[in-house]
Amino acid sequence: MTTTVRAWAAPAAGDPLKPTTIERRDLRPDDIRIRIVYAGICHSDIHTVRGEWGKQKFPITPGHEIAGEVVEIGSNVTKFEVGDRAGVGCMVDSCGECEACADGEEQYCTRGVVWTYASEYPDGEITQGGYSEEIVVTERFALRIPESIPFENAAPLLCAGITTYSPLEHWGVGLGSKVAVVGLGGLGHMGVQIANALGAEVTVLSQSDRKAADSHRFGAVAHRATADRAVFRELRESFDFILNTVSAGIKLGDYLGLLRRNGVMVNVGMPTEALPVVLPTLIGRRRSLSGSNIGGIAQTQRMLDFCAEHGIAAEVEVIPADRINEAYDRVVKSDVRYRFVIDTATL
Ligand code: NAP
Ligand code: ZN
Repeated sequence: MTTTVRAWAAPAAGDPLKPTTIERRDLRPDDIRIRIVYAGICHSDIHTVRGEWGKQKFPITPGHEIAGEVVEIGSNVTKFEVGDRAGVGCMVDSCGECEACADGEEQYCTRGVVWTYASEYPDGEITQGGYSEEIVVTERFALRIPESIPFENAAPLLCAGITTYSPLEHWGVGLGSKVAVVGLGGLGHMGVQIANALGAEVTVLSQSDRKAADSHRFGAVAHRATADRAVFRELRESFDFILNTVSAGIKLGDYLGLLRRNGVMVNVGMPTEALPVVLPTLIGRRRSLSGSNIGGIAQTQRMLDFCAEHGIAAEVEVIPADRINEAYDRVVKSDVRYRFVIDTATL
């Protein structure tokens, strides 16, 4: 038995999304059913449904920034009650036994994470994401959304928030750290706010000056337009940590030169083309180049509580479902301030 719910889906790679229905499974003992109130639009949704991340099984209902209310709980559920606020991010299950899962880093599960959409449970169930009325998920992969953060501002924290929080925490960014955030989009605007709340001095490296006022509002001390090549000379060896959130390929060498000795550049933006790295740039100052994938479940809860404590959240533009395709085009043009969030009452 399943429950049929309203959703929006892409019928095939590159096709516009359109209204449809999907099935949600009946609750297992450790499952909860969440009535989704808002779902954020992440650039990863666009990469996936446009075929930029390889072949997928269509139709796909994307969405991994999910916020809503618990409407039903399974017989063994202990973490949630009906009526609680709850969120779901990019994962809905993992093996629970490998070294990564044991460390609370389920996103690196070696037997395979079950992603929130376009993924498959071991029993063959294909996952469908948050552009829908309801989702059923094990309580282990559901998060508590603090009361002080409105649902629409909280939804993007489930991906954009944790993806930027995780590397900042992992590499110990804090008071005295000099940080650059590359790209002021959904991830970038959270990265700036979180790094600032951690005590770092943050510079935004954006393509133009268009978003400069917003950078300062989010807590950055400087906003520099990378279209001006002089920036790469002026800021040489300025940063301890660079967080690259850009959805397209950039010249890594330019940015690595901005790191001080022992500095680290972490990539969370995920274009799939290979980007050349010039080794002497790394070697000359013992610089590191790394990448980071979302964050674990316990860390995601820590991030939500941290954002509530510091009064930060996503800045969003709420849209009805019939504007999803237009919103995708605007995200690709870097024309988003700073996350589109779908009001699921309009599905
Ligand atoms: P987004 O809202 O579109 O933001 C990306 C920003 O990058 C844009 O706002 C723009 O900022 C800048 N940018 C875009 N094209 C550029 C270009 N050609 N050259 C230089 N800068 C450019 O996207 P998002 O939702 O934040 O996602 C960003 C990337 O992270 C995507 O690739 C997404 O798939 C990936 N992602 C990864 C993870 C992970 O776990 N690693 C999680 C979520 C998302 P300016 O206007 O300031 O230049
Ligand atoms: Zn995402």
